[in-house]
Amino acid sequence: MKKDSIAFERKREQMVDKQIESRGIIDINVIAAMLKVPRHLFVSEALMCQAYGDYPLPIGEQQTISQPYIVAEMTQSLQLGKDDRVLEIGTGSGYQTAILAEIAFRVYTIERINSLFIKARKLFDELHYHNIVARYSDGTLGWKAESPFDAIIVTAGAPEIPESLIKQLAIGGRMVIPVGDQFSQELIKLYKDEQGIRKTNLGGCRFVKLLGEEGWRYQ
Ligand code: SAH
Repeated sequence: MKKDSIAFERKREQMVDKQIESRGIIDINVIAAMLKVPRHLFVSEALMCQAYGDYPLPIGEQQTISQPYIVAEMTQSLQLGKDDRVLEIGTGSGYQTAILAEIAFRVYTIERINSLFIKARKLFDELHYHNIVARYSDGTLGWKAESPFDAIIVTAGAPEIPESLIKQLAIGGRMVIPVGDQFSQELIKLYKDEQGIRKTNLGGCRFVKLLGEEGWRYQ
């Protein structure tokens, strides 16, 4: 395990200052988590120096680790508290998972590419994230046995919001998901109460495709 050096800590402070706080993120739990999680350990050694840049980066298997600001915005939109149980679809590098795990009680995360799942799970162990439960499967079907969830986050773009996920959201629960075609999506926040579902559009975004049963049906 590589040490989290002072140089990376400085880069993290700059990232939070220039990309996160200056763009309006105010949730102190999100800011504290982004200052703490060693993002450079979630990318390959060759990309470590770029890990705190204002952009997404490749993580292999044609997937990407999301831009820091997007991670902050999506996490803030979930309005997480320390007792919340969160479901994440699309573990990828595991960076977003770690941010959620810093704030919430427990994070259930699902990844459909085995090599990414294995790598992320190993990192969670090494970094002592004992409140992350990782699984290799199709996340569009959710994780029924552990439902309902206080929050659900989907980190890949879907043609529409998977029905199974809406069902697995608790009353009072929040979900954030990029919805659109394969080239561009809108970040949709969904709130569920006794009356039903309320949606707000948080703006345009661009994610890799959510594949699987209730996502895009082709590779
Ligand atoms: N939050 C991650 C984003 C990774 S990109 C990070 O910052 O690193 C999105 C991930 O979603 C990819 O790893 C992709 O394999 C995964 N994915 C796509 N469709 C999926 C599905 N149906 N179930 C689970 N994971 C899926």
